[in-house]
Amino acid sequence: MDYISTRGLAPKVTGTQALLNGIAPDGGLYIPAQPLAPLPAGADFKTTMEALLERFFDDIPEAVRKDAVAQALSRFRDSEIVPLKTFDNLSFLELFHGPTYAFKDVALTLLPHLMRYAAQTAGINRVCVLTATSGDTGSAAMRGFADIPGTSVLVFYPKVGTSEIQRRQMVCCPGGNVSACAIEGNFDDAQAAVKAAFADPALADRARAAGCLLSSANSINIGRLFPQICYYLDCARRLGRPFDVVVPTGNFGNILAAHYAWQLGAPIERLTVASNANRVVCDFVRTGCYDARREFRITNSPSMDILVSSNVERLLWLLSKGNDVEVRTWESQLKAEGHFALSGYPLHDLKTKFASGWATPEETEAAIADIWRNYHYLADPHTAIGWKVNRDLPVTGRPTVIAATASPWKFPVTMLRALTGKTISDEFAAAGGLAALTGETPALVDLKNAPILHDAVTFRDTVPETICRTFSL
Ligand SMILES: *Cc1c(COP(=O)(O)O)cnc(C)c1O
Repeated sequence: MDYISTRGLAPKVTGTQALLNGIAPDGGLYIPAQPLAPLPAGADFKTTMEALLERFFDDIPEAVRKDAVAQALSRFRDSEIVPLKTFDNLSFLELFHGPTYAFKDVALTLLPHLMRYAAQTAGINRVCVLTATSGDTGSAAMRGFADIPGTSVLVFYPKVGTSEIQRRQMVCCPGGNVSACAIEGNFDDAQAAVKAAFADPALADRARAAGCLLSSANSINIGRLFPQICYYLDCARRLGRPFDVVVPTGNFGNILAAHYAWQLGAPIERLTVASNANRVVCDFVRTGCYDARREFRITNSPSMDILVSSNVERLLWLLSKGNDVEVRTWESQLKAEGHFALSGYPLHDLKTKFASGWATPEETEAAIADIWRNYHYLADPHTAIGWKVNRDLPVTGRPTVIAATASPWKFPVTMLRALTGKTISDEFAAAGGLAALTGETPALVDLKNAPILHDAVTFRDTVPETICRTFSL
C-alpha cells in the first residue's frame, strides 16, 4: 500500500515513510493511494488486526507486524480487547481497557513498535515524537512509547481543560524517554504550536543534525488512524448484520476509522457524529459549511474541546472523490477566512452517510444519569453525548453501536455530579464517592499518590525552545 497526500503536491510514499513523516510535506494528510478492496474480519480481534496491518503496512515484515500486535494487545485488561456491552438493540463498544483508559490506547500501544521498525530501516537514530493533546492522546502516547528504544516523546497539553486525572496520567508517567509540558492556552493553541514546530525548517535542521526525526503521534498520523479501523471490523464480525455507529467526535479520527471500516466492507449504515458544545463538526454535517469562527468552549467532555478538526481533511478528499485541487481550495479558505462550504455531490454524499447532533454540558450530565437509571451502566461524559445524540435521531431499527471512548473513572467530578447532584471538586474525593455508589474502584485512582515527574509549563512562542531542550537538539 502506498500513500499520497490529500493536497496532491507531495511524493507518493510507503507505509513506513508515511508513519515517520506524520504530515505530508505539502501540509496535507496521507491517505491510501490504492482503492480499498473489502477486508473481511478475522476470527477474533487479533487476527483482524494482523490482516489490517498486512493490508496497510505491507512494507513491514510479517514477523515484525505480528510481534507488534502481540505486544500491543498484551497491554489490554480485557481478553476481548474491546468488549461490547449490549442492552437490547443498543451496544456500548468499550474501547477503554488499555493502559490509559481511553480508546487512544488501541493505536498507541501498537504505533511505537511500527515506528521503531520504520526508523531502524530508514537509518534514523531516534524518532522524536511531538504531540498535542486535549487530554487522552498525551498519556496514551507516553505509556505507549515509554522505554521503547530509539524513541522519545514530548506531549503538550492545555494548562486549562484536562481533568486532574488526565493531567496526572501525563505528569506522573514514568519512562526515561517521555515528558509532558503544559501550554498556556487551549487544545487548539497546543495543536497549532505543534503544527508550527513541524513546519519550522530551523527545528528540522537541528533535528537532522542530531540524527533525529521529528514525528507525530496525533491522529493525523496514519499509524494512529488505521489501527482504529480494527474494532469496527471486529464489531461487524460479532454483530453479524448491518448496524449504525455513533462516535463522540473531536479531531474526527475515530469516526473516520469507522468510515474506512465501512469502505472495507463493514455493514455500517448510519454514521453519527456526536459533538459537545464545540459543535463545529456537527454543524458541518448538518449544513456542509465548516465554520471555525466561533468561541472555544471548555466543557465537561474535554477530549472533544476542539474547533480545528484535522481529520476532516481526509473526509474532504474522500467526498471530492480524490480531487486534491478542491481539497486545497477548501483548506486555504479555512486558513484564510475560517470557513468553507461544500456543494454538489460532496455535500450530498456527506449528508447521505452521516448524521449528527450535540449536547451541552448540562445535557451531558443528564444523559449520564439517564443511562445509569435505564441500564445501570456507567458511561463517561463523551460516551454519554453519543447516547444522547443517538436518542434524539430517528430510530432505524438496526443495532446501534456507541463508541465508549473513555472510562468514566477519568472524569469522576462530572460523573458524581451527574449521578448525585453533588459537586466535589477534588477529583480523587469524587472518585471515592463514585466508588461508594457503584461498588467499584479501578486502579486509576492510585494516581493520587504517584510522584509528579514532569512539571514544565511553556507559552506558545517558546515551544520550539522547549522542544530543543527536551530532545537535546
Ligand atoms: C480523543 C477522544 C475523543 C475524540 O476522538 P477523535 O478521534 O479526536 O474524534 C472522544 N472521546 C474521548 C474520550 C477521547 O479521548
